[in-house]
Amino acid sequence: MARAIIRAADWTLGLDTEEGAPEKPLHEVECTTCGDSSGATEGRRLPAETWAIKHTGQRPGHRSFRATQTSFWRVTPTPGNPYTEVTP
Ligand SMILES: [Zn+2]
Repeated sequence: MARAIIRAADWTLGLDTEEGAPEKPLHEVECTTCGDSSGATEGRRLPAETWAIKHTGQRPGHRSFRATQTSFWRVTPTPGNPYTEVTP
């Protein structure tokens, strides 16, 4: 039988603002017919939208796309949390 001890601690969840994390969401669209992708662009949706329209213009049978928006989150200890001083 497994046993576990769980400590209560306060944490907050928010956008990751640490160095190296993208400042804005990434936008990307992928053709569901052939798998081609627009590639990800940070902060702006228009390049992915334009790519999808051009892709269909060049291959009229490819009209369905998977659009994704990716953002990065971070869980941070609140003041008083015993893990505040722990560096990951
Ligand atoms: Zn395609």
